[in-house]
Amino acid sequence: SNIPLNNRAGAPRATETSGKPAAGAQFSTLPLSPAVLANLEQLGYLSMTPIQAATLPFALAGQDLLAQAKTGSGKTAAFALALLNRLNPRNFAVQGMVLCPTRELADQVTQEIRRLARAEENIKVLSLCGGTPMRPQINSLEHGAHVVVGTPGRLMDHLERGTLELAALNTLVLDEADRMLDMGFFDDIATVARQCPRERLTLLFSATYPEGIGKLSQQFLRNPREVKLAETH
Ligand code: ADP
Ligand code: MG
Repeated sequence: SNIPLNNRAGAPRATETSGKPAAGAQFSTLPLSPAVLANLEQLGYLSMTPIQAATLPFALAGQDLLAQAKTGSGKTAAFALALLNRLNPRNFAVQGMVLCPTRELADQVTQEIRRLARAEENIKVLSLCGGTPMRPQINSLEHGAHVVVGTPGRLMDHLERGTLELAALNTLVLDEADRMLDMGFFDDIATVARQCPRERLTLLFSATYPEGIGKLSQQFLRNPREVKLAETH
């Protein structure tokens, strides 16, 4: 499709088609550093997708989110930019954590956060998923990381062994929360979330809104802004 991604802020919102995000307001309307804005432009992110425009102003201001939008709508950058904005690169401790349903999704999120973090000095992002050996993950954690992305079971395993330390965590993201619930991860998510500092930002993203999402929200989000974008086709 050929939707222009450089529509000016306030221009009528283009209709979404499959795959390509629709055009929206400019990233430069957000409180992001010039380096981050320049990197977004380099990545070809010229304007915000609707879910980004509807969530980023609030997440960047420190408000919890309960956000629903379909697959391919740009949810990763919506939470990643907020998470990165809250990092102190000089503090070599885990400050952001993203829970994902599968290793494939965790690896995709890791790559996207790394791309978005290119503007910053030396931000380390680790993927911690089951089905791969523990030892290399433990070694990587010993060298320090600012952000970890992983599946609930493996993150819980690291917490139990004491190889993952969350005292400095300030942002918790539950990505594809509906799929994590489908896979029976509620208790694992709860165990991990209970070990996070209470004073934090929590962002929950989901493509659909099954019943368990409300329960997750009640237990782990604080006064969240709810954003639901209507399904197009
Ligand atoms: P979701 O998590 O909602 O399924 P993704 O975060 O995986 O969606 O994003 C889908 C695609 O859109 C990715 O290829 C991503 O690089 C691209 N994308 C995200 N935000 C923008 C943007 N603002 N402008 C252009 N492309 C974008
Ligand atoms: Mg996604």
